Amino acid sequence: MDITTDNEITTTDLSKFGYRELHLAKELLQALEDQGLPEDFNDDGLTIMFNMHSGNVFFTNSDYQVAMLNGDKLESFYNCPNCGNEGFAEDILTKSGKCKECKKQIIY
Ligand SMILES: [Zn+2]
Repeated sequence: MDITTDNEITTTDLSKFGYRELHLAKELLQALEDQGLPEDFNDDGLTIMFNMHSGNVFFTNSDYQVAMLNGDKLESFYNCPNCGNEGFAEDILTKSGKCKECKKQIIY
């Protein structure tokens, strides 16, 4: 899957970022400098992506992991491959790393 050219929903092309998105990208870079990446987030192929459908601006990588700001904190954003449930750890994961909806293991 090539998420940059497949469709026009997500882009890493900064010329397509508006002022709002550039501001969000700046906040992400600031968080990266201050906090570093989340522990379970791989920095291989790290880039900033804009989802033009949801309006979200986030870090992603070669593994299609997603990290976004949860308030002031840079956190991994998870997507359950079983039921499509998505959110930050506190929203969708149990303490043992299972999806709260379908109870399947997401994080090992
Ligand atoms: Zn699930």
